[in-house]
Amino acid sequence: MSDRDTVRVRFAPSPTGTPHIGNIRTALFNWLFARHHGGKFVLRIEDTDVARRVPGAVESILDALRWLGLQWDEGPEVDGPYGPYYQSLRLDLYQSLAERLVAEGKAYYCFCTQERLTEMRKEQEARKEPPGYDRLCRTLSEADVQACFEKGLKPVVRLKVPLEGETSFHDLIRGEITFANAVLDDLVLLKSDGYPTYHLANVIDDHYMNITHVMRAEEWIPSTPRHILLYKALGFEPPIFAHLPIILAPDRSKLSKRHGATDTGWYREQGYLPEAMVNYMALLGWAYDEKQEIFTIPELIEKFELGKVNPTGAVFSKDKLDWMNAYYINHVVGVEELAARCLPFLQNAGLVAPGSPADVREFPYLLSIVPLIKERMKLLSEVADLTDFFFLDDLHYDPLALVQKKMTPESTLAALESAEQALLPLRDWKEEALEGTLRPLAENLGLKPGQLFMTLRVAITGRTVSPGLFETMEVLGRQRTLLRVARAADALRNM
Ligand code: GLU
Repeated sequence: MSDRDTVRVRFAPSPTGTPHIGNIRTALFNWLFARHHGGKFVLRIEDTDVARRVPGAVESILDALRWLGLQWDEGPEVDGPYGPYYQSLRLDLYQSLAERLVAEGKAYYCFCTQERLTEMRKEQEARKEPPGYDRLCRTLSEADVQACFEKGLKPVVRLKVPLEGETSFHDLIRGEITFANAVLDDLVLLKSDGYPTYHLANVIDDHYMNITHVMRAEEWIPSTPRHILLYKALGFEPPIFAHLPIILAPDRSKLSKRHGATDTGWYREQGYLPEAMVNYMALLGWAYDEKQEIFTIPELIEKFELGKVNPTGAVFSKDKLDWMNAYYINHVVGVEELAARCLPFLQNAGLVAPGSPADVREFPYLLSIVPLIKERMKLLSEVADLTDFFFLDDLHYDPLALVQKKMTPESTLAALESAEQALLPLRDWKEEALEGTLRPLAENLGLKPGQLFMTLRVAITGRTVSPGLFETMEVLGRQRTLLRVARAADALRNM
């Protein structure tokens, strides 16, 4: 198989901020497509827009991809045969090809100043004409150009776009797309500081990196006819294009910060599982059939096809993502794995000592806690709040919360003392035995089970909502439970 037959796709982010969920969905679709076809997934950093570069942005993109398991085959850190994979390290290539286009008469130097361009735009606006360069420099003679250089003026290089005719391309998701050349103005290829524009660098790299399929968000559709013209001018074969549907907020406007977090890192911090994120993002624009929603990663790889990508915008629903995350927490990830993933959140909250599952003393204890709370957990970050009473012996609650309806502080104290007496001789500290001891006790005390159990729940957890009382007592253990019951009694005595 020659290189041209191997599927090669790329994710080409610009490091201008934190990785937006929409960009990462683009990365995911490229990754799935590459894995499905046994091809290569290339990561290229498009960092030529110096003014918009943000320090740390590359690292956060790499982190997001690693977190989700979207390992790239070529790119930063892994390298590969078509590097370098940072555009800022390929400037000579862009410059020499731009010069070549000028020499061949397919592009030209433009010396128009920023002031002139601004003025021109204002006039176009006033005349209600579409904005665009008026091509003043397209007809400069060689002597004019020479004179400008001699004056020390620094030009940009613009592509000579045909003034008539049409440019079409076939989009794998949308079919034939055609633009009249008249609406495409003479785009800038090289800026006056020698840096390429997105268009020039993107086209050159997709060619030299042997990219077979360009899959990117639909907002790039207007750039594609320009790219096709540029491929032609350079004498390169264009790749196949597929423009992915935009991601919308539930109100069907473009998903942005005002709808909630769009930064992938935020989802990680909140305790979304990477598997659930991948599964959910795969459904943003792609569907296997009307029914199936839960997919393992190997299944996604097997089933992913561009033919099933919907061209219309995909609505991002955080409720659906939350549902899916809870599903993964409860039905997909095993208890041991879940406990390991909860561990950092408990460590951050200061409830558990630092260290890995293998060396944290409380880890076996955590393993017995997790099954009790996982049904109520949507996000891993909720674990600290759901479990803190398992780790903290100093519970803070109002002693009056121990006193249930139709009970007095005196009768509550008596109930706690009796419970302590009944539990003390119990050796078999298991859920069933605990219930078998406390249920009859309620009857003996003339209380409804709910009254006694709520008192005990507050005594041992400090709250009125918790996992099942008896299983909580079992996991907390004999000593801790009895100590808490005794402390509750003390609190009532000292009121
Ligand atoms: N650097 C562009 C971006 O930030 C890449 C667009 C493309 O994939 O061509 O999204």
